[in-house]
Amino acid sequence: MPLRFEGKVAVITGAAHGLGASHALAFAREGARVAVTDICQDLPHARYAMGKRDELNSVVEEIEAMGQQAIGLRCDVTKADDVENMVKKVIEEFGKIDILVNNAGIAFVAMPVWEVTEEAWDLTVDIMLKGTFLCCKYVLPHMIERRYGKIVNTGSIGSRGQRHNAPYSAVKAGIQAFTLAIAKDVGKYNINVNCVAPGSVYTPMMQGACEDASRDFKMQGDQLYAFICKQCHILGREILAEDISNSVLFLCSEEARNVNGHVLFVDGGFQAI
Ligand code: NAP
Repeated sequence: MPLRFEGKVAVITGAAHGLGASHALAFAREGARVAVTDICQDLPHARYAMGKRDELNSVVEEIEAMGQQAIGLRCDVTKADDVENMVKKVIEEFGKIDILVNNAGIAFVAMPVWEVTEEAWDLTVDIMLKGTFLCCKYVLPHMIERRYGKIVNTGSIGSRGQRHNAPYSAVKAGIQAFTLAIAKDVGKYNINVNCVAPGSVYTPMMQGACEDASRDFKMQGDQLYAFICKQCHILGREILAEDISNSVLFLCSEEARNVNGHVLFVDGGFQAI
């Protein structure tokens, strides 16, 4: 039986670790060729950066060890030139792009809005909202020409408005609205645009957030994460990166061919509380 994404090419942003790495591996397991892209902050002109090179390389190597093809590319999604070059390189290497998963993200230390710096606000907007826009802007002409495409953007339970998390909440609500808007623009070209909105997953981003907050709660970061899962996820259990990847794969699959302009919360029921 053919694998679900055999013959398909997927681009994942922010894929050196966390949810992005999980998505990249999941697509490869299902037969896709994958472009694993990330900012690789500390060596801006290299194909791979030093600090992040190992992480990006290890995702690529894990995919190659499965017998699938992958390339690792440096791409800062806030920079139009970077995104345009990344799209060109993937098309040169693999001939096309079928799937784009806008995953790159950042989270700052939680604080009341009057303490948020302009720099933190701008960076939050640039990486997640502008980054999602730029990747769509440069991939869509190619998808429109081929009359085929699947785009999944990354929202969050934060879009409801989280205490001490105004920039992140605003950006995630923006991404969800952006998803619905562009789904209306490109549906006629056989392109599905959806959004996956995760609950709390214990990635490097969530570990950092829990460690920052742990002092206030007088417990270790991992204990705080367990507490959040119990209190906030109606199902009372941890959400794994694979849970989010499975939903991303579903949204990009033929089973979801008529799912469009949808925000899929994978949050153990957080939204229902
Ligand atoms: P993560 O582990 O921090 O991964 C995010 C990745 O994006 C990192 O590799 C990061 O690189 C990269 N990145 C940051 N700025 C970038 C840029 N300008 N260009 C390209 N890549 C960039 O976080 P995660 O938890 O996997 O989160 C992935 C996505 O899911 C984010 O959009 C996040 O908001 C969303 N999400 C996560 C959770 C959760 O509980 N984990 C919940 C809801 C939504 P650096 O490490 O160098 O910064």
